[in-house]
Amino acid sequence: MSVSTAVAEQSVVEPLPVLGRDVTVPLVTGGEVTYAALDYAASAPALQRVWDDVAAYAPYYGSVHRGAGYLSQLSTDLFENARKTVAEFLDCRDGDQVVFTRSTTDSLNLLAVALPADCQVYVFETEHHASLLPWREARVTYLDAPRTPAQAVATLERALAERDPEGPALVCVTGASNVTGELWPVRELAAAAHAHGARIVLDAAQLAPHHPVSVRELDVDWVAFSGHKLYAPFGAGVLAGRSDWLRAADPYLAGGGASRKVSRRTDGGVDVEWHDSAARHEAGSPNVIGAYSIASACKALTEAGFDTLVAREQYLIDTVRAGLAEVPEVRVLSLFGDDAPRVGVISFVVEGWNSSHFAAALSAEYGIGVRDGLFCAHPLLRTLLGSDPQTQGECGAPEAAPGEKSLNAIRVSFGAGT
Ligand code: PLP
Repeated sequence: MSVSTAVAEQSVVEPLPVLGRDVTVPLVTGGEVTYAALDYAASAPALQRVWDDVAAYAPYYGSVHRGAGYLSQLSTDLFENARKTVAEFLDCRDGDQVVFTRSTTDSLNLLAVALPADCQVYVFETEHHASLLPWREARVTYLDAPRTPAQAVATLERALAERDPEGPALVCVTGASNVTGELWPVRELAAAAHAHGARIVLDAAQLAPHHPVSVRELDVDWVAFSGHKLYAPFGAGVLAGRSDWLRAADPYLAGGGASRKVSRRTDGGVDVEWHDSAARHEAGSPNVIGAYSIASACKALTEAGFDTLVAREQYLIDTVRAGLAEVPEVRVLSLFGDDAPRVGVISFVVEGWNSSHFAAALSAEYGIGVRDGLFCAHPLLRTLLGSDPQTQGECGAPEAAPGEKSLNAIRVSFGAGT
């Protein structure tokens, strides 16, 4: 029985309609099978509702912030309303800015270039590379992998206690791991950061598609997430939060849209006044369809209700974990232990199997799409697999032969459309 069938029989609730439900794929054994998309953590299928909204808007598509025509005006309204919808979805504070970016990676790189001078950054080594790497130009303290949520808070507190309380500092933390699916104690980490005069940015790439994210309740300073993991395609992301550092920084990209006034100086150079609004960091023609599709997904998830979505997903998580527990060769990867609350992201290794071959076989023989590799979280995988950095496999690359110690893992991930 498939997981979807099991859920339907339990009549928890129906999955939200997504694109690609009926896609069939060829099997190596001959014939075809309906594709099972179980790689939501990489990119989730688009909600049918998002697709319909975009299709309805498409004939009215026009340039944003730079056209007198009706369609340009309409597109500008939709783009700015999308910003408001995202602010509501994230329960932002008055005065917070919502900047449309290309992705979570882009959002965190934008924040990295907006850091005040001499900012000290704190980041756990367990982060996705998008949260781990953008800060390399700053002074970064990499924190050791904690083994419990309480240890994460204690580790951060210890590190922050040693810092100069006068200087600016930023903590970057993920809300839900893209490897183990485990939830991180964001509220407690935010409280620790603020108690020591530091700010905190939440990488919600894996959290926002599964749980409500409230900037106010979590008391985080910024949130970053990606549309393509939130059931909205089209290459857009969000950085939302406090405006002061963003306003004080040079624009992420220099160009039209970010500049309010440009004039030639008498010495031949150019003077620029940059916008103070989110537009400061959105130079160039913005991705209006991307922003619109994110807003549509935010509305669809809110209307479906996170209480229902979380309950349904928990049933899926329990079902998949119970199934894996029946196979003695399977080891599920976990940092915080079996009882830790988590989202629908489960990574495992199968003793005697090369993870890449295993994942390839799931696709070729059963039409099941999962991911294998190190999931752009190499230090975390090293901790979880106990592998030597010299022999650890590369992201997505084939690794040890069958029977040898696994250097990569297999990841199954799912969500509201499963
Ligand atoms: N953060 C986490 C936790 C992720 O899982 C990912 C992507 O898998 C990212 C950041 C980067 O997202 P994107 O590739 O959309 O920039």
